[in-house]
Amino acid sequence: MAQMSNGAMARVESILVPMEFTTASHAHECGYDDRHSLETGMARLTILDEHGEEHHYCLNCARAFLREGLEQVQVLLEAAKRLADI
Ligand SMILES: [Zn+2]
Repeated sequence: MAQMSNGAMARVESILVPMEFTTASHAHECGYDDRHSLETGMARLTILDEHGEEHHYCLNCARAFLREGLEQVQVLLEAAKRLADI
C-alpha cells in the first residue's frame, strides 16, 4: 500500500530508471554511439544503471530514448485501459 506523508500525494512505484540532464565536465563520447562527441560544458543525459554507475548520452540519443520510452508507455497504458474494461 502506498503511504501518505504530510498530505502529499501517495507515491507510486516508479517504472523509470534514475536519469537527469547533467553538464559534461570534460570532453567524452556518447555512451550509445562513440561517433557522437560531447564537449566540455555540453548538456547530456545521465542514466544511473542498476550498479549505480552513470552512463552519459548526447541530446540526440536522449531524445530518441525518451521518445521510444514514451511510445512504449503509451502502448502499455492503452493496454491497461482495455484490460480494465473487460
Ligand atoms: Zn549519442
